Amino acid sequence: MPNPPPSAPIVCMFACLSDNYGYLIHHPASNSTISIDSPDAETILNIAASKGWNITHILNTHWHADHAGGNAKIQEATGCRIFGPQEVNSRLQAPLDDVLTGGETLNFGDLSIEVLSTPGHTLEHISYYIPILDAAFVGDTMFALGCGRMFEGNPEMFWNSLKKIRALPDTTKIYCAHEYTLANLKFTESIDAENEDLKAYAKTLRELRADQQPTIPALLGKEKQTNPFLRADSTQMINLLNMQGKSPIDVFAHIRKMKDNF
Ligand SMILES: [Zn+2]
Repeated sequence: MPNPPPSAPIVCMFACLSDNYGYLIHHPASNSTISIDSPDAETILNIAASKGWNITHILNTHWHADHAGGNAKIQEATGCRIFGPQEVNSRLQAPLDDVLTGGETLNFGDLSIEVLSTPGHTLEHISYYIPILDAAFVGDTMFALGCGRMFEGNPEMFWNSLKKIRALPDTTKIYCAHEYTLANLKFTESIDAENEDLKAYAKTLRELRADQQPTIPALLGKEKQTNPFLRADSTQMINLLNMQGKSPIDVFAHIRKMKDNF
């Protein structure tokens, strides 16, 4: 692989809080540093400072405190501009400058970020797809081998959101907001143990965690073969669950309920 041009954006990923991942995207050409969500203001500010970056923007995915709770402190320290769904302000009372609903494209010089509406975990949840990085920042909509809890939405809404993510290229790196992978793996193995793709993936994931390495980003192509929530319309999954004749929305709702009770 050729080296990326010097102006290519850099993704810096780090663990924070108990099991969150934080992300800074630094784009030298536009002198932008974007924090995806603001789980932990202090950690995020320290990491930016250690790299000599000044945070210029926060892009929120949804209103939960472990995603937008650091907005005020980071904005106070840096004067950054904050984009996100209205719920960040209306539900959490966190500062928000520009409201996004999905369908927008944000441009930072030649860095384009596409906003996807992905409700289900919360009603206004959005995700960010960055074609130049082959990356999607999906908040709590999707996890490696899992999806977020359905706190506010309904199964139809959530399934449509997952289909939107699933429609991205197989090479897309899925940057989700939590390290929940091993728990999700146990659940997936409880319904789909004979899946050969899952067996190979499981080995890699367990090795990574044994070395205390993150399992994120997850590769979307691999997730399409193994993540039960992305496979609610696959014949194999429908047969495993004895749900022949049911709609993908029903199958998704059933898998979500099984996981809630697992
Ligand atoms: Zn959340």
